[in-house]
Amino acid sequence: TTNTLMKARIAPLGAVHILILAEDHTHARRVEEVRRDFVANVSHELKTPVGGIALLAEAVLDARDDPEAVSRFAARIQVESTRLTRLVKEIVDLSRLQVADTLHEPELVDIPFVVVEAVDRVQVAADSRQIELEAVADERAAVFGDTELLATAVANLVSNAVNYSEPGTRVAVAARRVGDTVEITVSDQGSGIPAAEQSRIFERFYRVDAARSRSTGGTGLGLAIVKHVSATHGGDVSVWSEEGRGSTFTMRLPAASDRAASDSDRQPVG
Ligand code: ADP
Repeated sequence: TTNTLMKARIAPLGAVHILILAEDHTHARRVEEVRRDFVANVSHELKTPVGGIALLAEAVLDARDDPEAVSRFAARIQVESTRLTRLVKEIVDLSRLQVADTLHEPELVDIPFVVVEAVDRVQVAADSRQIELEAVADERAAVFGDTELLATAVANLVSNAVNYSEPGTRVAVAARRVGDTVEITVSDQGSGIPAAEQSRIFERFYRVDAARSRSTGGTGLGLAIVKHVSATHGGDVSVWSEEGRGSTFTMRLPAASDRAASDSDRQPVG
């Protein structure tokens, strides 16, 4: 490598230029590939509920004389359109996150508030599946960032934990300050994730069991959003899981220092 470095340094300017251009080109091509994959996936994913709605509408027209069948089909149209709305929202969220990899106006985010907000959003689903949700949060946990994005990310983790668990089990959410880091963990006693799949579940539209994901209204985008939100806040997300025992997802984010937090208490940012 010393050799190549030397060569690069003594190469005539023109040659260095070409080298850099070639690298840019490869990067641009990769970005273009990722974009094209995303567009292909999006249109595929949209076709499923749209096609379903079209077929159901036809069925409604055919069943005009059977009011019971009409209401059954109409109810399914409602389910499919809810799914479609959620899918479109998540695609837009994810595209925004991919375009802007930094936050415009970071604010001081109270993590206990984020945890309560996320749990609130999933409570009804948890109750209906008889899953006990418990949450604890260290009141010193604060980060700089976007409250709504963080609430969405934590809610995605809690919602997965609930959807991939059996009735009668527990889901625990905990937020603590560990040194300069805020750790948010979501643990379940659910189905777990096979080791070979664990590195792929954060990819857009990747699902271990597509049928199960669809039946719970999953879009395959939840964890991709969590990953992007964590990265945008200068942190990351990881998973520990054992099949049949459960999973723990951990978001690690740089903590807002106590000093910054109390300064911003006195004079609001922005
Ligand atoms: P989905 O909308 O399908 O839940 P996600 O991106 O949130 O999409 O998750 C991707 C996949 O990872 C899921 O389809 C599921 O197979 C797996 N998964 C995510 N969270 C859990 C969990 N807590 N327990 C078991 N499997 C999970």
